[in-house]
Amino acid sequence: MLPNPIIPPGSTIGMVGGGQLGRMFAVAAAKLGYRVGVFCGSSDEPAAAVASFTVCGPLEDHSAIEDFARRCDVITLEFENIPAETIAVCSRYAPTYPDASVLATAQDRLIEKTTLRDAGLPVTPFAAVRDAVEAIATAATLGWPMIVKTQRSGYDGKGQHRLNTADDAAEVDWQAGGEWVAEAMITFDREVSVIVARTADGRSSTFPVFENEHRNHVLDLTTLPASIPASVETEARRIAIAATECLDVVGLLCVEMFVRGDEVMINEVAPRPHNSGHITMEACATSQFEQHVRAICGLPLGDTSMIVPTAAMMNLLGDLWVEDSPPNWPALLSIDGVSLHLYGKHAARPGRKMGHITGVGNQKEAIAERLKKARAQLSQKT
Ligand code: ADP
Ligand code: MG
Repeated sequence: MLPNPIIPPGSTIGMVGGGQLGRMFAVAAAKLGYRVGVFCGSSDEPAAAVASFTVCGPLEDHSAIEDFARRCDVITLEFENIPAETIAVCSRYAPTYPDASVLATAQDRLIEKTTLRDAGLPVTPFAAVRDAVEAIATAATLGWPMIVKTQRSGYDGKGQHRLNTADDAAEVDWQAGGEWVAEAMITFDREVSVIVARTADGRSSTFPVFENEHRNHVLDLTTLPASIPASVETEARRIAIAATECLDVVGLLCVEMFVRGDEVMINEVAPRPHNSGHITMEACATSQFEQHVRAICGLPLGDTSMIVPTAAMMNLLGDLWVEDSPPNWPALLSIDGVSLHLYGKHAARPGRKMGHITGVGNQKEAIAERLKKARAQLSQKT
């Protein structure tokens, strides 16, 4: 266990990555009096607009990374697919969380699932496969249907195929993925996620369990509290903390899980803020972004309890930008009880996460309905 180096407000935090997670992190850090430097590909990325300074370049540009890292007191990141050498350069100048070993695990579905399973944690049944023949052989244990995922660099359902029968295995371009992970297709009752924050000296704290609904493999709706029994909530939080300790994460870990009856299984983990955690900005005493700042700076972790009875968060994807004309923001903003967050992305593409809306109140189904109507208003002509 490391000592607890406190990096006090007034210090400079480095964020590798310029997307919406980095942007909301930077705003939360600024609220606590930190300066945030962002390393990203170009100066028009979402986080660059709110940073104290920006260093632009590819992740492989070690001299640019050095320029960035030497100006930081602590460094963190908003996505896991960062080359190990980039993190090694960062660590020479400032404590970097999460560290290279966490990233190596989280970048590789097979290593991730094997590590968690070997630690005694429940994960969806899986096997490594390389081609149709191996996938079909695996069906003897996993059963049909199954889902195959590229071992590395998939997100938002990219690089995944559902195989209903042996015939489907022939349709997959097996060469494209390198190695693959085959998983049993789980008929779950609910999908949930738990975000854990952990400090270098081993203190940790979980947020309440979020319930998630996906559309086309992309998160669409998160609600709080999850509609699960208290015993399942306790178990999900226990598993999430155990995963965080097993991987020795400092910062945040989001653990995505399937719930089937009383059973909780890990789907995947992400060592960073998570889309489902956006709901904490309105629903919890401390947001996931502030908690991330507190965790990497060695500060006391904040209160994660809910400050509203129920809440819902809905994503706004690029599909809402019809023929490049922007959505009708005034129509949405005229609706009371809807909080709008936009990420300042210039180009809207189908499936691209452009922003989200959140609502709070007494009944989460009614809030979700309100958000759905609000989102529909965006397509109204001005
Ligand atoms: P990504 O990295 O793209 O988020 P996930 O493994 O989380 O990849 O898959 C995206 C979504 O696809 C999940 O949130 C879930 O809805 C569905 N899914 C993935 N794996 C399974 C599975 N084994 N059984 C059932 N549904 C799954
Ligand atoms: Mg996922």
